[in-house]
Amino acid sequence: MSNKSKFFFIDCSEAAECCNKSQYKEAKFFDKVRLMFHLTFCKTCRSFSSKNSKLTSLIEKSKIQTCPDENKEQWRKEIKKELVEERN
Ligand SMILES: [Zn+2]
Repeated sequence: MSNKSKFFFIDCSEAAECCNKSQYKEAKFFDKVRLMFHLTFCKTCRSFSSKNSKLTSLIEKSKIQTCPDENKEQWRKEIKKELVEERN
């Protein structure tokens, strides 16, 4: 993966780390963005985060839960496109 992809794509362990940081208010803005991004795609972490009240309020603030499915679909398409372009 390129650095650009790595910037946005974190794995579940990194997401958990961001999650812990956000509990202790140590998370940087980009940590939160990456965490949100991960939660958009990862059901496992979403269900984990729903048990974490601090994180849930963070997500509510970001309005990610009210993000329409079409928007998420659009993101997925754009990400896929970007990844294909990077491989070429
Ligand atoms: Zn995950």
